[in-house]
Amino acid sequence: MPKQGDTCPICKQHTLALSKQTCTDYISKQSFSLLHCTHCGCYVTHGELQQDYYGQAYYNSKKGKFSPLIEKIFKLNHQRNAKQFYQRFQPKRILEIGCGRAYLLKELKQLDCEVYCLESDEAADWILNNADVNMITESKLDFPAQYFDLIIYWHVFEHLPDPVASLRQMTTLLADNQRICISVPNADSYQAKLQLSTWFHLDVPRHLYHFTPQSLVMLLESEGYEIESIEAGDMIQNLYGWLQSLANLFTPKEINGFYRFLQGGKPLKTLSKTALITQLVTSIIWIPVGILGYLIETLAGKHGSITVYARKKHRKY
Ligand SMILES: [Zn+2]
Repeated sequence: MPKQGDTCPICKQHTLALSKQTCTDYISKQSFSLLHCTHCGCYVTHGELQQDYYGQAYYNSKKGKFSPLIEKIFKLNHQRNAKQFYQRFQPKRILEIGCGRAYLLKELKQLDCEVYCLESDEAADWILNNADVNMITESKLDFPAQYFDLIIYWHVFEHLPDPVASLRQMTTLLADNQRICISVPNADSYQAKLQLSTWFHLDVPRHLYHFTPQSLVMLLESEGYEIESIEAGDMIQNLYGWLQSLANLFTPKEINGFYRFLQGGKPLKTLSKTALITQLVTSIIWIPVGILGYLIETLAGKHGSITVYARKKHRKY
């Protein structure tokens, strides 16, 4: 991971300075600081990364990250996303990096696409239970150059310790003139600026990079891509980001209580009753204000998460 004073790995044009923000992981309770690039606006999680920060208090169970009803909502949402991908690009061979419960790829497979998912070995232990998609781990990433015509990072790019190296690797696997899609939380959104340290989508230290639209544009253009569009990310992510970030203002020392309540199971057991009750009681305030915030953010184009579509330019080697 980069250090204070290093050149920003995303825009490669400015040095990273220590930001005043400190933030605490709601699971491990470990504190982190953030490095900031004033040129492209991105933040980088800074601190000692010691352990597995995912595991049992992050996922509800091997069946999913949430209780069954919420999982169902996610599934429906991904059905919609898959249809949009298909109508827009008619892709034949798709690679998704980090596919979670593979809802998106399973839908795309139903639409007759050839689908692959790249997962890390550690994550594979938890979620490699998907016979429908071709799961591959990093050690088995063996495809001819330009094999894929759509590569997707869906809320994964911000988790990678070296997103630039990953992007370069994927660029060789993507055919010329075809698309890469990167969806990430937006550190330049209003919900992030409300209070960055308790912003729901900051999620340190699982999120290692915190991108702004400008930082993604600079990175993709420097790697040979033409930006086709920058759009609002997933509506559920954007709305929920507002709701939970506002709720966190009432319990700044113990954040994401309502989120853990929705997850149920082991994540809920890690939460103090006082924090949960406070977030539930104050929902009378944060639900209406959050909906209003979401609407304002949407109208202003400062979405809580963004999806960037970029086309790989043909290069003469
Ligand atoms: Zn930068």
